[in-house]
Amino acid sequence: MGCKGISQEAEIKNNKIYAIDKTDSEWKSELPQMAYYVLRKAGTERAFSGPLNNNKKTGTYVCAGCQVPLYESKNKYDSKSGWPSFDRGIDANLEYDVDYKIGYPRTELKCNKCGGHLGHAFNDGPRETTGMRHCINSAALNFIPTDEKP
Ligand SMILES: [Zn+2]
Repeated sequence: MGCKGISQEAEIKNNKIYAIDKTDSEWKSELPQMAYYVLRKAGTERAFSGPLNNNKKTGTYVCAGCQVPLYESKNKYDSKSGWPSFDRGIDANLEYDVDYKIGYPRTELKCNKCGGHLGHAFNDGPRETTGMRHCINSAALNFIPTDEKP
């Protein structure tokens, strides 16, 4: 009966309705292939392959699926992991979930508006700030540069 309880819980979780609610085929036709693989299939891009990994410009990182702001450039740091890393996010727009994909629980980060998979949170971030590392796939984000005044 323990198992039954767990599966029922999972079922409820999978049925969460997000503000942006599209079918799989809609997402597939709207998103670039890599963004679809990461956001909708919880895939992971190859380390050092994403265009935003080394981005040091000032601006806001938004969800590639629904454009809601998720991260600010001031919270990005070089974790040397090969993925864009942040010591904190815009929590109101983030969902913290748990996945067991590799056999033990990890904190999964999702967009709270469209349910898109972003990456994972670890507690090996910079000690001098939050100690957290949000390890995010470049393909899950779009970067909006802040207008630089001349
Ligand atoms: Zn989103």
